Amino acid sequence: MKALQEKIKQDGLVLSDQVLKVDSFLNHQVDPVLMKKMGEEFARLFRKDGVTKILTLESSGISPALMAALELKVPMVFARKKKPLTQSADVYTATVHSFTKNTTHEIIVSRAFLTNRDKVLIIDDFLAYGQAAEGLIDIVKQAGANLSGIGIVIEKAFQPGGERLRSRGIRVESLAVIQSLKNGTVSFLEEAYA
Ligand code: 5GP
Repeated sequence: MKALQEKIKQDGLVLSDQVLKVDSFLNHQVDPVLMKKMGEEFARLFRKDGVTKILTLESSGISPALMAALELKVPMVFARKKKPLTQSADVYTATVHSFTKNTTHEIIVSRAFLTNRDKVLIIDDFLAYGQAAEGLIDIVKQAGANLSGIGIVIEKAFQPGGERLRSRGIRVESLAVIQSLKNGTVSFLEEAYA
């Protein structure tokens, strides 16, 4: 997605060869116009798949997931990282390890919001090692729901998550695919082959 690539080039900060910071439009401050365009693009990609629910992970997945949900006119559910006081015990849980933060935590979704009648589109902000996606897939499986695919805002192709998921036949659509963050520069995949 051209507008997203331009925004990453303009405002993304390369923190290391492994990590890109996009706090100014996705992970802290949020650009609603860009989010709307992303929602339209995810909806275009998955419109024919009969999606009934979008599943994401708090907090950074919520903005793009909500915009896609608005376009597809389906509810958006976000997995929680902390169990609130009001949460019933009737939940699906999965474990997610973050290589970026070197933390492991449980994610929680209420059984009331995901059932075996759902066709689920998972959306997340980044795809790196695929651990967040795996946790969400685990929850879709526990619910007995169907997985339509995974929509990612920024995939880092030099980390193994995308390949691992696609090699299992899972449809993964990424709006921007980064080939490399070497030398403080963002190179997109299609540029590498241009
Ligand atoms: P994975 O589970 O695929 O290894 O990593 C995905 C999660 O880690 C994303 O939800 C995101 O929060 C975080 N993440 C991974 N790589 C990056 C990165 O380069 N920049 C930012 N801002 N977050 C990242």
